[in-house]
Amino acid sequence: MVIKIEREWCKGCGVCIERCPLHALELSKEMNKKGYFPPELTPNNTCNNCRLCELICPDLAIGVFVETVEGEVKAKGDGKNGPDSEYGSGEG
Ligand code: SF4
Ligand code: SF4
Repeated sequence: MVIKIEREWCKGCGVCIERCPLHALELSKEMNKKGYFPPELTPNNTCNNCRLCELICPDLAIGVFVETVEGEVKAKGDGKNGPDSEYGSGEG
């Protein structure tokens, strides 16, 4: 499982962190260019791929992907939300 954060899209609202049912997200220690602290996975990574964070992020700044055994990363959902979707490349 991989969580992709589009750091520069994030406004640091914390909704994803508050609503994650498994407390798998925390604020990163590095600020983005807008002065906000985007989320990141906690070190113990309890994420179960529920995608709630992806669905509730108001800025489409977070996406949930699964990593295949070949090391590829694929969208878990329909690919319509989050980074690397039709809304953006997810890079830079
Ligand atoms: S996919 Fe679910 S469990 Fe994983 S970080 Fe997002 S809200 Fe939390
Ligand atoms: S990723 Fe989205 S929900 Fe989470 S803090 Fe940033 S803007 Fe808010």
